[in-house]
Amino acid sequence: MLKIENLKKVFRTEEVETVALNGVSLEVNDGEFIAIMGPSGCGKSTLLNILGLLDNPTSGTYYLAGSEVGHLKESERTQARKGNIGFVFQSFNLIEEMNLFENVELPLVYMRINKSERKRRVEEALYRMNISHRAKHFPNQLSGGQQQRVAIARAIVANPKLILADEPTGNLDSKNGNDVMSLLTELNTEGTTIVMVTHSQHDAAYANRTINLFDGEIVTEVQL
Ligand code: ADP
Repeated sequence: MLKIENLKKVFRTEEVETVALNGVSLEVNDGEFIAIMGPSGCGKSTLLNILGLLDNPTSGTYYLAGSEVGHLKESERTQARKGNIGFVFQSFNLIEEMNLFENVELPLVYMRINKSERKRRVEEALYRMNISHRAKHFPNQLSGGQQQRVAIARAIVANPKLILADEPTGNLDSKNGNDVMSLLTELNTEGTTIVMVTHSQHDAAYANRTINLFDGEIVTEVQL
């Protein structure tokens, strides 16, 4: 599915230079569920952003589904993400001004999918996440658990092969957190590859493999 080799990311401002990733190599197979753990500031989000083509590494290679994508221009990254990668964030990242249907529809609009097909797919994703009855509601009318289910619906609506999740249960109570982890596990069982950043040992236990980062380097890997 994806392979990174000797990935480095250095953030430079006028006064400071931060080495966020210092030579990270990792291969993730199709259908794996990987948890990335490590203390705050060790580079987890930076790594996930690069895997999600939201940012480029300073150096190193990144192969996604056989193509080198580590050094694309921003417009090329946007194109490469479309339909291929779904994102789930701790903060849900729903658009407040749009109702749930419109939020979930957005990736399909960017992909220029026609309206009737969009409707079909959005309804299916909302149904799957057990939130169809709220399609006309706005994000601020929902609980955190419901908002995260909508975010997962948006992540899966284009049928991506890869889902990247950054602390997906970080803002949820344990019941809603467990529901979200069960949904991710279900998607993984059906073949979706998942890479998830988490602080939680409990959530990491859902994964097949845990990668521990420290100071921008992989220090241990545990096969579960
Ligand atoms: P984690 O997700 O493990 O908490 P991050 O990947 O967010 O860690 O950050 C790794 C390091 O890179 C930290 O020292 C952080 O301050 C720094 N960093 C992250 N993003 C930026 C940025 N855009 N500009 C400058 N430094 C950054």
